[in-house]
Amino acid sequence: MLARKRSGGNITTPTIPELSRMKKLLTDAANRAMRYLDGLPERPVAPNPSALDGLAAFDTPLPQHAGDGEATLRLLDEAGSPASMAMAGPRFFGFVIGGSLPVALGASWLAGAWDQNSALYRATPGTAHIEQVALGWLLELLRLPPACGGAFVTGATVANLCALAAARHAVLARAGWNVEAEGLFGAPTVTVLVGAESHPSVAKSLGILGLGRSRVAKVPVDRQGRMRMDAFPQISGPSIVCAQAGNVNTGAFDPVGEICTRAHAAGAWVHVDGAFGLWAAAAPSRAHLAAGLEQADSWATDAHKWLNVPYDSGLAFVRDASALQAAMAITAEYLPTEGEHRNPSDFTPELSRRARGVEVWAALHALGREGIADLVERNCALARRFAEKLSAAGFEILNEVVLNQVLVAFGDAARTARVIEGVQIEGTCWAGITVWQGRTAMRISVSSWATTVSDVDRSVDAIVRVARGDSR
Ligand SMILES: *Cc1c(COP(=O)(O)O)cnc(C)c1O
Repeated sequence: MLARKRSGGNITTPTIPELSRMKKLLTDAANRAMRYLDGLPERPVAPNPSALDGLAAFDTPLPQHAGDGEATLRLLDEAGSPASMAMAGPRFFGFVIGGSLPVALGASWLAGAWDQNSALYRATPGTAHIEQVALGWLLELLRLPPACGGAFVTGATVANLCALAAARHAVLARAGWNVEAEGLFGAPTVTVLVGAESHPSVAKSLGILGLGRSRVAKVPVDRQGRMRMDAFPQISGPSIVCAQAGNVNTGAFDPVGEICTRAHAAGAWVHVDGAFGLWAAAAPSRAHLAAGLEQADSWATDAHKWLNVPYDSGLAFVRDASALQAAMAITAEYLPTEGEHRNPSDFTPELSRRARGVEVWAALHALGREGIADLVERNCALARRFAEKLSAAGFEILNEVVLNQVLVAFGDAARTARVIEGVQIEGTCWAGITVWQGRTAMRISVSSWATTVSDVDRSVDAIVRVARGDSR
């Protein structure tokens, strides 16, 4: 595309493609993308072995010469598209993975064309402004304090990291210690509590922050993975409690209100990992699960899960915006700070970054309060349908289906594992394996805007067929 021609001396001049060639190339990409999306509902969810063999088409030497962009896109589509997992389709139930709302994908294309380095307000006022609007809407929708600081990051892992960095700053500042300046060498001891079923990304974040992956105290949990308040320890001194809204296996919520009462009485900071569970606050029929969440000090969530925006997109919210800013902001003469404007990079680990908040804004704008409530409630109702039908077919549901997660066992561990593999190969749908409190289970997560009742029924039929066919 950017063919270079030799001019005088050794300097080459890029030949800028004429608008018509650029349009042709981008229209070709859009057409290929739409053909791909069109085929999703009826293709096998997992790529088949011949599609994976086809990846060999990429195993070429680095091209020496500039080529034709159309050939590049053709190869990407012809060899890459069939080798993709149909995560954007209606019957992918693995991990907790939403699809992409068409409007969010469209916004992503447009923002990609803008190509804004969205670190600083002065450099990219448009995307900085749009992200600020989205942040305000999110706080309202998720019923969090309106003055929270926020960060648009890559996912809940980094959102946990940002929020816990703010927590680390605040609890040590209260003890008279400046952790950003002095590090943790000689710092007062920070006590960290996590639930025994917290997400591994919390441990990872604590490790990166020098708080230790394993020096934490683990609070025992009940059968659904909720922290047991009767086992909640006494805490004192600089302390951080990591609670969870939406266990990745069961969907269960820690009693965050009670945790906040106990922790705040001891001066501790409460962080909530609500990667998908935080969205319960946006759905009237699920909002009871989120009661008390607003009392915490920081929250992490994903937009690429339940808000169904393209990867990658996570969100950190911190009640005391200045704590997040103290942990994340950098200063340099060439990086202008704005008095009255929000510089996105004051709140994120990155300086340069894509304007992922534009897609979040687009999803919120297009769905509105009712559309988001409907998305969450529909997914929860479809999860219950999965559980009821699989239970009626004689299989054991291991969790209370309070949200969008279903754990199902097909007998002992070996048989359950065989059925899961069989379902993945059969291709109607895709769900993964987990071990929940000693039991091997299929983990079904309903998180996509695209999933319908008939997708669930087709998937249940396929799962039951595979499970009944396993006679060992
Ligand atoms: C998915 C998830 C995470 C990690 O989110 P990423 O977006 O993959 O970084 C953290 N916590 C919980 C509870 C999750 O479900």
